[in-house]
Amino acid sequence: MSETLFSKIIRREIAADIVYEDDEILAFRDIDPKAPCHVLFIPKTPIATLDDAGPEQAALLGRLMLEAAAYARREGFAERGYRVVMNCRDEGGQSVYHIHLHLLAGRQMGWPPG
Ligand code: 5GP
Repeated sequence: MSETLFSKIIRREIAADIVYEDDEILAFRDIDPKAPCHVLFIPKTPIATLDDAGPEQAALLGRLMLEAAAYARREGFAERGYRVVMNCRDEGGQSVYHIHLHLLAGRQMGWPPG
């Protein structure tokens, strides 16, 4: 898999507003936020798309969700609600091919998405 700019963010070669980090996961604010709170949760080991993930990554994918939920709770969004989204490939709207979970919060979300 060719490297994306998210690997450079992990290595601190590109600046990002990092809000959470552990051994497996990094979370940082989206550079072009679509909501008052817009954070990307990424695995430190790159996986290009959700379609490229396998059963061996089930726990890691679950952890992305749980860390997003924990962050939303810490930031006071749990009761009001929020959205998590993972775009997959072109028609899914994916632009960076290093899997990432969007956490969007702080405004009313619409449905269906555009
Ligand atoms: P996708 O469209 O692949 O689901 O989401 C990629 C996200 O990465 C977009 O929301 C975009 O704004 C964000 N993004 C792209 N380049 C950068 C960057 O250099 N820094 C940060 N923090 N976010 C970025």
